[in-house]
Amino acid sequence: MNKRNEIAELIFPNITGTVQELEIKYPKRPLSDDAIVTRFAPSPTGFLHTGSLFTSLVSWRFAKQTNGVFFLRLEDTDQKREIKGSGDRLIEQLLIFGITPDESFLHEGNYGPYIQSQRRLIYHTVIKEMLIKGLAYPCFCTHDELNEIRKEQEAKKVLPGYYHEYAKCRYLTDEEVIEKLKNKEDYVIRFKSLGKLDEKVVLEDAIRGNIEFPKNIQDIVIMKSDGLPTYHFAHVVDDHFMRTTHVTRGEEWVPSAPIHLEIFEQLNWQKPVFCHFPVIMKLDEDKRRKLSKRKDAEASVDYFLEKGYPIEGFLEYLMTLANSNFEEWRLANPKSDIFDFNLDFSKMSLDGALFDLEKVKSISKEVLGNMTKDDFTNKALMYASEYDLELKNIIEEDLEYFKSIINIEREQEKPRKDYEKFSDILPIINFMYDKYYYDLSNQVIFNERFKKDFIIELLKEYRDNFDLNLDQENWFNGMKELALNKGFAQRAKQYSKEPDKFVGHIGEYAEILRLATCAKTSTPNFYDVLRILGKEKVIERINHTITLLKTK
Ligand code: GLU
Repeated sequence: MNKRNEIAELIFPNITGTVQELEIKYPKRPLSDDAIVTRFAPSPTGFLHTGSLFTSLVSWRFAKQTNGVFFLRLEDTDQKREIKGSGDRLIEQLLIFGITPDESFLHEGNYGPYIQSQRRLIYHTVIKEMLIKGLAYPCFCTHDELNEIRKEQEAKKVLPGYYHEYAKCRYLTDEEVIEKLKNKEDYVIRFKSLGKLDEKVVLEDAIRGNIEFPKNIQDIVIMKSDGLPTYHFAHVVDDHFMRTTHVTRGEEWVPSAPIHLEIFEQLNWQKPVFCHFPVIMKLDEDKRRKLSKRKDAEASVDYFLEKGYPIEGFLEYLMTLANSNFEEWRLANPKSDIFDFNLDFSKMSLDGALFDLEKVKSISKEVLGNMTKDDFTNKALMYASEYDLELKNIIEEDLEYFKSIINIEREQEKPRKDYEKFSDILPIINFMYDKYYYDLSNQVIFNERFKKDFIIELLKEYRDNFDLNLDQENWFNGMKELALNKGFAQRAKQYSKEPDKFVGHIGEYAEILRLATCAKTSTPNFYDVLRILGKEKVIERINHTITLLKTK
């Protein structure tokens, strides 16, 4: 056995398979030539970041629009940072948005395992061959030794890192390596870079075009002392054997692409197409910065789920971030499924997509306004079951009553956009339920310009005269007549011009009625509200208000 084989055997005594066998086990996927295979590769270190949802949405769409495959690979090689259970939660969150990986650790395909820590055999098989071929070597340098190297480089003002003459363990003889291994000294495995200073490499990025870089020269660690691979190595091996055609990932990986390109090259593997997506940015006091998990609530997808932003609205918003021509298409195709739109790599922004919460809100209002009452109710109930039990009770207590309320000015040509998110529902409609109305009524304050007795008189008169069987126009005319008789001006302007001639204007008259019957100054369409409450309840509430006024 030659020395390199002996070293490889000492390090991986149990690895008997070969890279060739892996090539056969994980063949090119049986897909048409233009089908794209993408993946989402989250680390299980916490909640789903809004930027990751964006990346996975776009990756998924690219795969789907070409009849390709989208899979999820859990990148759990940094076990210190792992948060137990977050991998499951990540998939759950994707599913909530309808992003269904074709393959994942929950639903394995032929290219698994789909969790990196379970792919050791594959990494070790590749590394064993790299050791034999001289493409990798064990490094026994301690922290102190690495520090020494760094200090020396700082003093000489040269590039820091483990490379060329600074890569001490490159120069160990095979005998020295064997001895150290036999002595059970700690080691990592490093890639042996063939890069030279001043050489260039070009990253061909589907979004950014060609980017020229100095070639990698670093002998980066590919396997840590715990036997797990580093990101750089795992990415290359996994995307090769999982037959990813397009590596869709955040632009923060652009600077390390030369490392990946060199590993692909040394292993003689076909490079995937690289697509580095824009990072999601935020405007903070006029400066752009990365949306940050630490600082920004909206960096977490959970924020939007908990508040009850409609899923469709959020996805639609992310599509506007993905391609600059999406909005134009949307205007031309307002009723189409957003996924009828074909994404294009060349239409992605290059320098960070600015996250605009106001736009999320306005799209959400639009989406919620356009839902049918049944759809709205079902989704509100789904939301409430997870996040808002009070709302759930309200909905379930009388489904039809709830539907009639949220259907006010819905299902019509130009629906009203009262709701931005499902958590708005209860604060907007609670007064329609007695248990809220009676509490709210205690806090009602009428305009102080009107005397209590006048309000009582006005309310009594309305109570004895209103008719909800009329259509809205006639109902309104009835109210107007009562108001004018009581000395209110027909228009606010009229009153402000001649304040001595009137007691107030009709808006103020209506406000008194609204406060009495709804305990709020603003409500969905008042006529509809009154009709849904029904004559009896309206009278009950007016009487209640009169009693309150008398006792205060
Ligand atoms: N695990 C890496 C991350 O979470 C994935 C990058 C990639 O998609 O390759 O950033």
